[in-house]
Amino acid sequence: MIEKQPLSLAHELQELENAPAPSRGPRCSVGAFLAAAADNDAAALRQALDNDRITSRAIADILSKHGEHITAYTVARHRRRSESNGCRCER
Ligand SMILES: [Zn+2]
Repeated sequence: MIEKQPLSLAHELQELENAPAPSRGPRCSVGAFLAAAADNDAAALRQALDNDRITSRAIADILSKHGEHITAYTVARHRRRSESNGCRCER
């Protein structure tokens, strides 16, 4: 660090504008799991998520059984993705 002069406040604020915009928020753990899981696992999970007769709790229980520590709350939030109280995964 041989910076002699710190950047001015205005300059630093202007630099922020040049920073790449964050595309979307970070994926929740359900979204991360969907991205990383095998195709058939991801497809089955998507189907379960879209089926409103299956509770978020039941999905979370099965995921936990397979070593994915995802809570029912996170599953429910993922189901509400793109709503104001949902996660920020893409729908
Ligand atoms: Zn999500």
